[in-house]
Amino acid sequence: MKEKNKRIFLSPPHMGGEERGFVKEAFDSNWIAPLGPQVDAFEKELSEYVGAKGACALSSGTAAIHIALGLLGIQQGDVVFCSSLTFVASANPILYMGAEPVFIDSEPSSWNMSPVALKQAIEDFAKIGKLPKAVIVVNLYGQSADYDEIKAICSIYDVPIIEDAAESLGATYKGKASGTLGTFGIYSFNGNKIITTSGGGMLVSNNLEATEKARFLATQARDQAMHYQHSEMGYNYRLSNILAGIGRGQLRILETHIMKKRKVYNYYYKNLADIKGIQFMPEAHFGKATRWLTALTIDPLETNINANQIINALEKENIEARPVWKPLHLQPLFINHAYYPHSKNRSVSEDLFNKGICLPSGSDLSIKDQDRVIKCIKNILNVNED
Ligand SMILES: *Cc1c(COP(=O)(O)O)cnc(C)c1O
Repeated sequence: MKEKNKRIFLSPPHMGGEERGFVKEAFDSNWIAPLGPQVDAFEKELSEYVGAKGACALSSGTAAIHIALGLLGIQQGDVVFCSSLTFVASANPILYMGAEPVFIDSEPSSWNMSPVALKQAIEDFAKIGKLPKAVIVVNLYGQSADYDEIKAICSIYDVPIIEDAAESLGATYKGKASGTLGTFGIYSFNGNKIITTSGGGMLVSNNLEATEKARFLATQARDQAMHYQHSEMGYNYRLSNILAGIGRGQLRILETHIMKKRKVYNYYYKNLADIKGIQFMPEAHFGKATRWLTALTIDPLETNINANQIINALEKENIEARPVWKPLHLQPLFINHAYYPHSKNRSVSEDLFNKGICLPSGSDLSIKDQDRVIKCIKNILNVNED
């Protein structure tokens, strides 16, 4: 009974085995303080993995977005565009800066920022002389947005891109690593991400001066002087040496995690894709997704069952599933900010929110547990097992 009803989590941490060794190194050398050799090595190893020149390890992905906005000189009253279909952490740092977020819809082929909506928004804001100072482009559920299209629009107006790759470490866009396509890229190592340090983040860029400046800002902006002197406002945002040790171990199994997550997706697909009304999140032609989370939509007009009913049915079986992110333009927090839909009569992100479900996608999910999820979904949809 206990084993049978063991909770299946959405995307639990999954250690590889080498983490302890690096943490032990940190303990043995008494580098318990923030910063230290594990942090330096983690930055070097991650930047080599993604092919970015510089990296700065931080206490969270949110902190990395905040620092990136600071490096781009965002000030009070500035406009910053952001994908709407995402976790609130993508846009909160815009508010930290006193800037004004404007939300951009998704497009159907990747669920990420719609170049059509972006173009409309940027043209409108150019007309009133309020060009955005940055565009935060989110790569949802392990898949890249369409950067060539997005960059082409942004470069006309010389607007820099921050790539929120918190959910897409290890994914690629036309062969390049997700997170390395904008002026800045950010990753998260929060507990549910594809690799975790229990909490942490990273800012990457090919601009070494900028990543150096990030280091400065994230350690209270202390000037080069013997005494404690400060000319700028800084933050206490660096990653601890202990946590960086976990990160180094996790980085060594990232490729395995990607393989396993894609396997999890394929197995769901094989078992559920034929059901009328179910559609899986597509993998856009321009990249390779990690399938950090397997996401699908369910059309209640075809199945008579909606996404929430499925999530509740799974919960009854002690299985954790989640709706797709509630778009930020629908959040009470952002209710007064502008939103640009994919087309006049079509808000893709709202549609995905109404119909979307994220299924348990742990990199250590067993076939037996996955069968439990599939069986439960088939039961509630009244699909007979063959
Ligand atoms: C997790 C996440 C973040 C924030 O990362 P933290 O490390 O939790 O601060 C930002 N953006 C997206 C899209 C995320 O999923």
